[in-house]
Amino acid sequence: MEFKSYKDDAWYDVRIETESNGDSGGNGRRLRVKFSGFADEHDEVVDGKDLKSFKDVDFLRCRFRPMSVQLQDTECSQVHKGLSVCAAHSAYPDDRRFYDAIVDGVVRNEHRFENGEEQCTCSFILSWKHGPYYGSLSEQALENICRIQPPLAVDKLDPLLASFLNSARKTVQATGFFDSGARSQRLKQETKLARSTSSHLKGDDVDIGGVPHMIIIDNLEKGISPLTIMEFIHYHLSFPCQAFVSPSRVLESYARGAILLHSKRNFDKLSAFLENPDHIIISSRGRPWLMTEKTPVHDTHMALIETFRLTSQTRRTGTCNELKVVISGTKEYSTAKQLKDLFERLANHICKLHQRLVVEEDRILQLPDEV
Ligand SMILES: [Zn+2]
Repeated sequence: MEFKSYKDDAWYDVRIETESNGDSGGNGRRLRVKFSGFADEHDEVVDGKDLKSFKDVDFLRCRFRPMSVQLQDTECSQVHKGLSVCAAHSAYPDDRRFYDAIVDGVVRNEHRFENGEEQCTCSFILSWKHGPYYGSLSEQALENICRIQPPLAVDKLDPLLASFLNSARKTVQATGFFDSGARSQRLKQETKLARSTSSHLKGDDVDIGGVPHMIIIDNLEKGISPLTIMEFIHYHLSFPCQAFVSPSRVLESYARGAILLHSKRNFDKLSAFLENPDHIIISSRGRPWLMTEKTPVHDTHMALIETFRLTSQTRRTGTCNELKVVISGTKEYSTAKQLKDLFERLANHICKLHQRLVVEEDRILQLPDEV
């Protein structure tokens, strides 16, 4: 399993231990993250007491994922523009740190064969998604690039981690402390300050004092879990978010969801990802996502969203919880594009009906004055 360090935001091979924090209450545990090949003094420790909301628990979970696997020379053709990868970047000799990046381009070269072994000589242009090189491009050889593994389902998580997250969730539920507002942001900031010893650390999920932003996604698969959406976004963009899914009517063949972000930068990154014409996000049955609204969220909406969040906390199961990105030029993409255009026409039509409704309502409400 790999873990994104609080100290430098890079991914490391780790194992975990749990221990008591001396508190006899419900959250008397600490999670100790031990870095392979590093001495104990480099351990990072998360105290159960610091996890005060579901969001805090989700943030922590998103820091763990299955070990990324180094790409082999023979797998070169599977690396294409738009693919999310984890790659090593060396700022100094002997200092290789792994960060996530998106393949921005591939310069293909003929492969060499030495002693019958294929050697990739292509170069890969990577756009870094987080870490000290965030937003910049660099050229890497295949040997520095790893394939990110899909996130694990709840029942496949490391049992120690699953049990720690579970008891943290239960404590949050029992204390009824779900806020995602100022207190939670402050907690995040304090946690970071306490754990941060490196100047590499970047605040990747919270703009202190910023206004949260919401993105509405239409045409989701019915039955999709908000957790699936959060994991999908974390997998591709490497930042946490909150997601909600509203119940659908029986006749509706799709669901609607909202994604809440506490950082304008992440909001812009997610908008760009969703609007990128080079790919479309689809369910395993081929239903394409459509972003229908994006807006800042003010305090009055927050309470509603938090209430709604509780009703939509469900486990992920079934095929409605599989998502993928299809790339322009493929058959899947052209089918998804047709379905997306079709849904867009429906959405525009509904929008016009809503405008018409407002006009008609006004007309009826004004009627007594006119008589
Ligand atoms: Zn190659």
